[in-house]
Amino acid sequence: MTRKITAKTGLEIECKGWEQEAALRMLYNNLDPEVAERPEDLVVYGGIGKAARNWESFEAIENTLRNLEADETMLIQSGKPVAVFKTHEEAPRVLLSNSVLIPKWANWEHFNELDKKGLMMYGQMTAGSWIYIGSQGIVQGTYETFAELANQNYDGTLRGTITLTAGLGGMGGAQPLSVTMNEGVALCVDVDETRIDKRIETRYLDIKTDSLDEALKLAAEARDAGKPLSIGLIGNAAEVHHEILNRGFEIDVVTDQTSAHDPLNGYVPEGYSLEEAKKLREENSEEYVKLSSASMAKHVEAMLQFQKNGAVVFDYGNNIRQVAFDTGVENAFDFPGFVPAYIRPLFCEGKGPFRFAALSGDPNDIAVADKKMRELFPENEKLMRWLDMAEEKIAFQGLPARIAWLGYGERAKMGLALNELVKSGEISAPIVIGRDHLDSGSVASPNRETESMKDGSDAVGDWAILNALVNTAAGGSWISVHHGGGVGMGYSLHAGMVVVADGTDRAAKRLGRVLTTDPGMGVARHADAGYDIAINTAKERGVNIPMLKE
Ligand code: NAD
Repeated sequence: MTRKITAKTGLEIECKGWEQEAALRMLYNNLDPEVAERPEDLVVYGGIGKAARNWESFEAIENTLRNLEADETMLIQSGKPVAVFKTHEEAPRVLLSNSVLIPKWANWEHFNELDKKGLMMYGQMTAGSWIYIGSQGIVQGTYETFAELANQNYDGTLRGTITLTAGLGGMGGAQPLSVTMNEGVALCVDVDETRIDKRIETRYLDIKTDSLDEALKLAAEARDAGKPLSIGLIGNAAEVHHEILNRGFEIDVVTDQTSAHDPLNGYVPEGYSLEEAKKLREENSEEYVKLSSASMAKHVEAMLQFQKNGAVVFDYGNNIRQVAFDTGVENAFDFPGFVPAYIRPLFCEGKGPFRFAALSGDPNDIAVADKKMRELFPENEKLMRWLDMAEEKIAFQGLPARIAWLGYGERAKMGLALNELVKSGEISAPIVIGRDHLDSGSVASPNRETESMKDGSDAVGDWAILNALVNTAAGGSWISVHHGGGVGMGYSLHAGMVVVADGTDRAAKRLGRVLTTDPGMGVARHADAGYDIAINTAKERGVNIPMLKE
């Protein structure tokens, strides 16, 4: 059985309250064809990141949400509803745990066995926790990353530079737009032409070609003219990157967002068409992983060579360095990950990918919210610039939504303001507020968010668990704990948070609490690791940390 799911809009609800309705609508939204990469298989993004374990579980979740009382909580175990308990009205309506394995068994082989038996599902980050909003969800973070790279290397702009990357999937699709928003040229390689087409349809990518000659010609012309341009090139990165090196073509920045975190389902080995890859995956998974790992090693070797040639090279959170290292590339970690290179100072202030979606489906609700954000934070110049660009260039996918990196204090202020706008009717229906798991206080991921922590605490997983626990205690609407998102099995633990602004006084209390505890965990985590920005943020904004260093 498969079903075609589309985002549900309007003011009429089928559940017993807006909070339950919000969970249902966000589940639908995750699987809307405009939003999801392979909705027929329940796959939302990021390799095989799914919204529900199978269609039977999906329907059981739907029905349970429709019947769920305002003082009950549904439990989801890896995409399957497993129990409903009476709790209380300020408790979460849904608690989710996805893909969590006991550490000794926490690898893809064991996960894939359980997945085949129907006992598990890969939740990625926001796929299994129902707060994916399409490529917009990542685009601001990607934009900020390239902006910081430009500040550190090129006087604040990518004008006149060429960025080479691969992977135009759900997240990776944000790369071309982020590069052109920073005025640069992006050359993006993907083996799957349909992914390239999707990015063109949603205005994240300018043009496509299957000719490397043409791609390089167009890239060089745009670079020389100082014009922003993004080019999608159909090809396999493990081959194309070496071709570019062989031709001596100069590249300025190199990164990658193929789904390297999942060697079986995410990365296509060189020499294989999509069809051939699919066949091999089904017939001989061991051979597939061997070939894809060898291709990834080759891909990373090319990235290292670009670095030697003078390019700025960084890992974009897909764990490709680890796969290459395990396959024998000893210096795979010679280039840094994007978090220590560009993002950590933001995390220290509790800043991260705060997002919200309009359950009405009315884009005007987001316009009203944007206006409010401008009124509340006029001194935040980066945010103002971002809103100008987002309003002009971001096409909504599924429910209208907005991403805005806000920090400790700002998130609670914005959440409460949104609740007031719902209460007054200026926003026509409740707003769902959440974030990516890739955030300041919600992830332990030693090759990504917690790479090279100042005190060496990269692999300490307690923080992610504490984040989920405190957000549950504070009254989030649905709270999740996941394993393996972003970087794959064995490499990360992370937590998700969603809270609904329905305009009631009870929601205001919950919003005020959750939107303080959640970024507060980011400040506490980084202050504990000894980062001055976090220590100062805690002192200035009053985050209570018992053993804070003076
Ligand atoms: P996705 O699975 O939707 O897309 C991956 C893309 O890579 C597909 O379009 C696929 O065709 C392409 N691809 C696979 N092998 C290739 C090859 N050899 N050459 C060229 N293209 C190839 O995944 P996504 O959601 O876009 O995420 C991409 C990666 O980034 C994942 O590993 C994900 O975990 C990671 N990620 C990064 C961030 C971030 O902020 N940087 C956030 C979330 C996820």
